[in-house]
Amino acid sequence: MRVLKAHMTAQLETVIPLPAPVLLPIEGQAEYFPVRRVYCVGRNYADHAIEMGHDPSREPPFFFQKNPDNLLVSRDFPYPALSSDVHHEVELVVALRSGGADIPVEQALDCVYGYGVGIDFTRRDLQGEAKKLGRPWEIGKAFDHSAPVSALAPATRVGHPDKGGIWLMRNGEPAQRGDLSQMIWKVPEVIAELSKLFTLAPGDIIMTGTPAGVGPVSRGDRISCAVDGVATLTLNVI
Ligand code: MN
Repeated sequence: MRVLKAHMTAQLETVIPLPAPVLLPIEGQAEYFPVRRVYCVGRNYADHAIEMGHDPSREPPFFFQKNPDNLLVSRDFPYPALSSDVHHEVELVVALRSGGADIPVEQALDCVYGYGVGIDFTRRDLQGEAKKLGRPWEIGKAFDHSAPVSALAPATRVGHPDKGGIWLMRNGEPAQRGDLSQMIWKVPEVIAELSKLFTLAPGDIIMTGTPAGVGPVSRGDRISCAVDGVATLTLNVI
């Protein structure tokens, strides 16, 4: 096996088409942010842990992944197959410009390119079944289009937000409402913990968990969400 550098692939013949790169737009800028991996944090807001029936004590954070091509840049979210209980989870998205292993908490924010808002859509019925059977979560979490993400806001413009509103409205009605300050594991701690388990790299994004108020969506819904002062995202469920 040969590991190819991205700039080399353009000159190579491939037996099938090269997969399209996954690119996130950047607010107010022509360049894109290329995505390598998508990590997600489970139960990172106490009130959401409680609503899911768990003890919100500060146990080490746990992680799961979505696939980069699960990211949805279009503003239409197609209701997925084989579920009748798809839930919204609004989350602060962190985009890394650099990475490494065993990153110290004090250096973690140096790795951050910027922030956005995203939705960790979840087939709650399939996730529940997987939990019950002790099976992996992919069918509940990592389905096509399961991760709509806004344009990114560079940290050079918005700084490193650690407080401020994070919310989601469904058809104009408030559904989720929280504050970044309620995160059990803060962004630098999430990066440090994750880098103990995986070598992080430029292009990795992290969905940092959801506040309370998760609930089902239906076809025809209009969903708006935001991290105040960072990014907004509006979607139609189709
Ligand atoms: Mn989530």
